[in-house]
Amino acid sequence: MARLIDLSQEIYTGMMVYPGHLKTVVFDHAHHWETAPRFEGGFSFQTKGLMINDNGPTHVDSFSHLDPDPQALTIDQMALDLFYGPAICLDVSQSAPHTDINADDLDEALKRSGQDLAAGHILLLYTATFDRHQDTREYLSEFPGLGESGSEWIVEQGIKAFGVDSPTPDNPTSRSYPCHMMCRRHGITHYENLANLAEVVNRSFTFVGFPLRIRGGHGGPTRAVALLDED
Ligand SMILES: [Zn+2]
Repeated sequence: MARLIDLSQEIYTGMMVYPGHLKTVVFDHAHHWETAPRFEGGFSFQTKGLMINDNGPTHVDSFSHLDPDPQALTIDQMALDLFYGPAICLDVSQSAPHTDINADDLDEALKRSGQDLAAGHILLLYTATFDRHQDTREYLSEFPGLGESGSEWIVEQGIKAFGVDSPTPDNPTSRSYPCHMMCRRHGITHYENLANLAEVVNRSFTFVGFPLRIRGGHGGPTRAVALLDED
């Protein structure tokens, strides 16, 4: 039996979202007391309404999000296979905020993990940003990001997708976003705003992170889960 670990952030009004993105709003839409009069025999229901950015909570970027090419795929056009598969999580939590995570850092993190990273796998990077700063403004600015060499390292490994527990895999002080540009050039997508990566760091597991099927969406809010073999 696999153990299921939730790698998603909760969705709620006031949660931290990337600066400039639509803020998350969750509101009561229909109450039991409102719907009860429509039925006989005691039935009633309640629902909530949601307003979220398609790149809002835990989500995966579509290629159309980061590539202005009109042919770039929107989230509903991307193959489901991209969002599921063998994965490892590396520890880059020692990298200081506002610094670049470089190829050497990733080589060392991979060696320390004792795991193998094969072409076609999914790579998660534990920056500890969510653990340290959830529900505070620091969550939006106090983290490192993949620099030029770290981004090229991702390409060299041949992985199909990667993800971070921060709002973006780029260094928040960067104005050129080398990691997102690498994703544009090479057609590699990534998850942002993951959570609970401490529970899978330095482990191998199966990652499942299917985005909502939003027509023409530029990202998909995701319930990301790790399936961990019990040992
Ligand atoms: Zn992104």
